Amino acid sequence: MSQLVFDPSKVMDIDYTKRTEYLDGLEAIKAAHKVLKEITYTPSLPDKGYTNRTLYVNVDTLEVTEKPVTQQMKDVFIGGRGFGLYHLWNAVKPTTRWNDPENEIIICPGPVAGMTQYAGTGKSLVVSLSPQTEIPIDSNVGGYFGPLLKFSGFDALELQGKSDKDIILFIDGVKGIIRIEEAPTDPVDSHVLAEILTHMYAENEADLPNVSVVSSGAAAEHSLIGMLNFSFYDRRRGCVRFKQAGRGGIGTVFRNKRIRALVIRGPRVTGDLNHPADPETIAKTGIKYHKEIRENDGSQCMMRRNGTAHIVEIMDAYDLLPVHNFQFGSHPDVHKIDSAYWQQRLTQATSDGCWYGCSMACAKGADGVVLKTGPYAGHMVTVDGPEYENAAGLGSNCGIFDPDYLLELNFYCDTYGICTITYGTLTAFVMECYQRGILTKERTGGLDMTWGNAEADLEMMHQMARGEGFGKIAGMGVKKMKEYFIRNGYGDPQLINDIGMENKGLEYSQYMSKESLAQQGGYALTNKGPQHDEAWLIFMDMVNKQLPTFEDKAEALYYFPLFRTWFGLNGFCKLPWNDVVPANNSEQPEAHKVPEHVQNYVDLFTATTGLQITKEDLITQSAKVYNFQRVFNIRMGKGLRLHDAAPYRSLGPVTKEEYESRAERYDQQIVTEMGLEAAGKTTEEKMALHREWRTGRFSKLMDSVYTRRGWTLDGVPTLERLKELGLDAFPEVVEVVKQHL
Ligand code: SF4
Repeated sequence: MSQLVFDPSKVMDIDYTKRTEYLDGLEAIKAAHKVLKEITYTPSLPDKGYTNRTLYVNVDTLEVTEKPVTQQMKDVFIGGRGFGLYHLWNAVKPTTRWNDPENEIIICPGPVAGMTQYAGTGKSLVVSLSPQTEIPIDSNVGGYFGPLLKFSGFDALELQGKSDKDIILFIDGVKGIIRIEEAPTDPVDSHVLAEILTHMYAENEADLPNVSVVSSGAAAEHSLIGMLNFSFYDRRRGCVRFKQAGRGGIGTVFRNKRIRALVIRGPRVTGDLNHPADPETIAKTGIKYHKEIRENDGSQCMMRRNGTAHIVEIMDAYDLLPVHNFQFGSHPDVHKIDSAYWQQRLTQATSDGCWYGCSMACAKGADGVVLKTGPYAGHMVTVDGPEYENAAGLGSNCGIFDPDYLLELNFYCDTYGICTITYGTLTAFVMECYQRGILTKERTGGLDMTWGNAEADLEMMHQMARGEGFGKIAGMGVKKMKEYFIRNGYGDPQLINDIGMENKGLEYSQYMSKESLAQQGGYALTNKGPQHDEAWLIFMDMVNKQLPTFEDKAEALYYFPLFRTWFGLNGFCKLPWNDVVPANNSEQPEAHKVPEHVQNYVDLFTATTGLQITKEDLITQSAKVYNFQRVFNIRMGKGLRLHDAAPYRSLGPVTKEEYESRAERYDQQIVTEMGLEAAGKTTEEKMALHREWRTGRFSKLMDSVYTRRGWTLDGVPTLERLKELGLDAFPEVVEVVKQHL
């Protein structure tokens, strides 16, 4: 053990001068690995986007098996999230819990994934039973692992079982070797572990970009909010960077299975590895799109300079930025963490794509960050991001406007393996509970969780990583904290439930939805819980007033979740769809759908698979998987109307302070929307009127959306809808629905 001294600062140090010393440590770690199982297989490349086989690995029994991809799987589930849900359905029973051995983690890239000619085509989907929601969670993630998995011969990787020792699964897609190794001395935290493993399994310097690592971190072992880091080797920086499969606690499942890391070594990536049916159309569509990005990004979203953090000030301007646990929508200090700041702090003049060919290149990074706290204090590191969600969640929502602390919080979330969005929302909840006396210093073990106290926030995170103190309680997530606080009599149960921003057990992502009824549905009427990747309708609804009626909102909550689901079936990133649009987009019919880009996706799918589809088929493809997932939720004991309920904070003002901060707006709504008088009423009386009006219209929205989706008013897909979609071919699916009609 004395030889295994490893200093992470030598790894992520941007001048990278101490490589030799650190490689000495690497050799010692490698020597401690013990091969538990090794098999050989025949690597293969995809044909028209599919390799037509998947890989099953049981980390307990060490079974390693290939499974065929059937035509039915392709027809109904397409790939990506669809394949993940299909495998998970077959692996679990209604009684399976997240930490049972039969729960799986499935990683699936989708047929288009791995294309290099169009932006945002390197995504894979990760699916598992979530420790937070106890239903299937899906997370769309970049990095190289998914595409390299496919180029090593597999359309999906299924991981099942629970090991009794920490293991690494290594897939060598060049030599055709699959190996399970015991990893007794490997570090846990991602920024160290992935750097070591990339160098350990690459055959030489030129091979480094062909290796990708999936890992988590210390906090994933002691919390329910663990996340997975998917690595990609950044040649320009000469270090390993990450994209995250963040939501729902999949990192927790990963560490519960005692998987320390997955490592893949694939072939060198070239433009033709996916063997598409029509490479010319793909090339032509890609060239057109890259030109558009070059011409329009600077005047539209500045993704290539600021990443997604460019919207911080836009959200603030529209009163949509979450501040102090979603109480308010703007803050005077936001200029300290807006895009003007990030533009000079994020490293520029480098192409930051998380997969080859992504000209949107939004995976920005801050280099040379010297950490102030925790086990890596004093180390100089590269921080991936911050993205908008991190700046808003870790920042404004907790009243933290010091960008150095934001970078440090972002770094530790990543390396400890916890979801930044979840951590931001749960910390904001903790801070509001502290503000309102629900939590006290005695109850937090001495942590002073006042708004803006970044040091206390970081200490809570370090506790979470050590599995100690209040950090361990916070790591249960908002839903279980609410139950714990109520059980222990810490405060008014209604207030605790109103301000705890979770639905189905998943924390809200970082947008204020109070003034957008459609977005309230976009969050709560989701399959996996309130993540904006299903539907982000705030601007259409609240700013542009394009959804005036319940039917309009229901139509949007029918179309957009299905349209966005399609990205996850195929291996696309959502961002290139509408973060930069054609210059003449606003002149097109249905401009909000970005019709030219929709046509690009239709063309890319057809050109990859050889299957002719239309834009309507694209929605039908998604509808099959979306409805299957809804039935899956019902099978696991959730997925009904009562599980779509939203916390009142997401619908309207919970507290007097909140109401009075926007009194003019709320008073006016009493007159214009409710047809009543506001004058002469106390704030409490007006808040009561708002609660009745807002909960009533949310309930009416549920009726409209369920009807449009072909569901009963209890949220169950009807037998007719199953038949329309061909899901009646699965007797178990029909049986679940019949039990709930
Ligand atoms: S747009 Fe950003 S997140 Fe999406 S693939 Fe490109 S670099 Fe990755």
